[in-house]
Parts: sequence; C-alpha cells; structure tokens
Amino acid sequence: MLLSAPAGIDDILPEQVARWRFVEDKARELFARYGYSEIRLPLFEDLRVFVHNVGETSDIVEKGMFTFDSGEDHYCLRPEGTAAAVRAYLQHNYPKTRPFQKWHYIGPMFRHERAQKGRKWQFHQLGVEALGASDPLLDAEIIALAGHLFDELGLSGYRTVLNTLGCGDCRDRYRRTLQEQLGPQRGRLCADCQRRMDRNIFRVLDCKQEACQAVSAGTSTLQEALCGNCRSHFEATLQGLRILEIPYEINPRLVRGLDYYTGPVFEFVHPGLGAQSALGAGGRYDNLIAENGGPALGGAGFALGLERILIALEALGQTQALAASPALHAFLVSIGPGTREPLFQLAGKLRRGGLRVDLDHEGRSVKAQMRSANRSAAPFVLVLGCDELAQGQITLKRMDTGQESKIPLDSVLSVLRPGAADLPG
Ligand code: AMP
Repeated sequence: MLLSAPAGIDDILPEQVARWRFVEDKARELFARYGYSEIRLPLFEDLRVFVHNVGETSDIVEKGMFTFDSGEDHYCLRPEGTAAAVRAYLQHNYPKTRPFQKWHYIGPMFRHERAQKGRKWQFHQLGVEALGASDPLLDAEIIALAGHLFDELGLSGYRTVLNTLGCGDCRDRYRRTLQEQLGPQRGRLCADCQRRMDRNIFRVLDCKQEACQAVSAGTSTLQEALCGNCRSHFEATLQGLRILEIPYEINPRLVRGLDYYTGPVFEFVHPGLGAQSALGAGGRYDNLIAENGGPALGGAGFALGLERILIALEALGQTQALAASPALHAFLVSIGPGTREPLFQLAGKLRRGGLRVDLDHEGRSVKAQMRSANRSAAPFVLVLGCDELAQGQITLKRMDTGQESKIPLDSVLSVLRPGAADLPG
C-alpha cells in the first residue's frame, strides 16, 4: 500500500526548494542587516509554554495544537515562536546578563486547523522578536523590516494594517464598553461569538461572519479608550513609520487571535492570497516576560508565513526569480569502455575543487547522456573517449557556441574554475 502525508502537511520537493531558499536567503540577509541574530528553538515544548501565553481562548489553543504525552508530562508541537522565544530568554537568564536581544527564527510550526490553501498543519514562519525594550521605534523598525523584505522579494501590492490594543487598563475600560454595547445584541451573534463574549470579548471584533461584523461595526473602538501612555506609544510608532516613509493604514477593529499582545499590533495583507489574506502579523507584548516570571521588560515581534509569501509571489507572476537554482558548471559524458572510472575520478576532483558537476548513473547511451547534459543547463560538457583517455586528454564543449577543444585531463579544474581567465573559445 502506498502511504501519503496527512492532508495538511506538504512535502517540499527538490523542484520547489530553490523558491524556498530564495525567500529564506533574502530574509536571513535582511535580518542580519537589521541586527537580528538567529535563534534555533525546539520543535516541541512543554504544553504550558503555549497554553498560558497564547491564551486559553485563542483559536490556536482551543482547537489548534498537536499535543502528546510522555508519562506525566504534556507536550505540544510548537504552534508559534514568540512564547518559545520568551521561554528561552528567561531560561537562559538574558534579563540579567544581556537584557536587550534581537532574535530571528525560520522554521516549521504546527497547528491543527482545517487544512486549505494557505492554511496547513505544518507551515513555516519567518519571525523576529525584539526582547527587553519598549521603544516605539522598535515597533516601527519591525514593521519596516517586514515591508523591506516584501519589497526585496518583489512582492508588491501588500498592505500594512495597524491598530493598538493598549495596556491592561485600556483593555479593561474597553471590555466594559463592549459588554455594554454588545450585550443587548448577543442574539444576533454567531454561536462562537456568543461564547467569545464571555471568554474573550475582543475576539468578537475578529469574527469573519457577516452578521457579527455588522454588529461589531456599531461598537466604539479601543482607540477611544486609550490611556495617555498607550496613545503616545502608538503615535510614536506611527511617527517612526513616517520617518522611514512606510505607508500604513489604521484599522481600529484589528485585534489579534493571540492573547499576549499589548500596544501596537499589525498585519500584512495581500489580495493574491484569497480567504487566508494575511502574509504575516505581529505586535508588542509588554506583559509576556513578566507573566512568565521575568522582570517587567517589553517585547515586540512578527511572524510571516513562508507558504503565503510564495503563494503571493506566484500570484504576481514572480516565478522567474523563484525558479533560479544553481546550475551545474559541467556535465561529464563517458564514451567507450574503460572511460567511466576515470570520469568518476575526475568528477571527484572537480567537486573537491569547488565545481558543481554530475555524470550519468543509469547506464545511458552517449546520445542520452548528451540529452541529460542539455537538460542540466550546464555551460560546459566534458566528453571522455578511449583515444582521449590514452592521450591524457578530454574534450571540452562550450554549450553556448557549440565549440569543442581538447584539453589536458589534469588542467580541467583550472580551466573551469569560476572566474578562470583562460576559458577556451
Ligand atoms: P500568527 O502566528 O497566527 O500571527 O500567524 C502569522 C502568519 O503565519 C500568518 O499571517 C500566516 O501567514 C502564517 N500562518 C499562520 N497559520 C498558518 C497555517 N495554518 N498555515 C499556513 N500559514 C499560516
């Protein structure tokens, strides 16, 4: 019986990997330019890392985690990176030794959601976390960094949407206002929202059902409940974006599905994505470090969905850049008995010398080997026949001009080495 991977889990096949690397390499380069060092976090953690922090009423925790037990202990595959980064920050005593940290991560996350295009059980995030500071210019820097990455990737047409969720006091005030305003309309809300009203009323504003959106459109916004500090933090963040000339929109009803956010939150949306329109999202989480037993230090970050970035690039027809994988420098063709082992030996030498080369392993005819050479798009083909071998030579063919020349076998590496000045023809 042939087995398949589960519906929400994709293989990333060799033909697709160049696209992934294109995005990952650009991201790594930019993260370094903005001073974010890489952290590699474990793929599974103590379940409590996420349940407490992401929020018991969040979609992720309510229905979205892959959990498993080992003896008395409960674990889960990581559904996101922020809570794990904060766990590592505290576990390794950074608040005492080097409190300000800028980290990035790239890797798989796992959520048990209804699988569809752009929504997978295993998906990949590019994330940054700036831990240990509450400077509003950091919020602006993080937003600018994501936009810079989209721009460098050629991903045009995205929108940057912002809101602020304020601090605990702002939210308490706003919670009371929402309870007063939504209470009488309870019957018009969907079953999920009726539950949300009791457990986490802000999430009603996030509901995708039209009826619920119509009800929440009539409520006042959190902006109206902001305290002086939160208002000035948000203003300073927006000023940072204006300084960097980053276009943005404010959506006063943007709330995020994760409970740990405070202050500015943001989302990057793209029309090429369909129903799952967010390329990525993030925000400030100034209580998370303290809530996990650390000092009162702030933090902010984002996570971008790699699959969604690739879908949006494809929708834009940006497949040229995505398809670029490094071609071979040369394909090696053997003609006649006794030439295969010397050719295999030559391949070994060239590879140790830094060249990308390949040769036939399927016992194919010379014609078929030449077809493989063509398909490989290598600029050179090296052909070894019995006579040439006897003379210590090999034929070098330039694929662009078709020109052929015989060169000494022991000179191939110096002739083909990238940047070599004496390429024949
Ligand atoms: P979140 O951690 O929920 O704020 O998500 C950040 C980004 O990760 C989203 O905007 C998506 O681009 C991506 N993402 C989240 N969940 C999934 C999923 N199940 N499948 C694919 N991408 C996802």
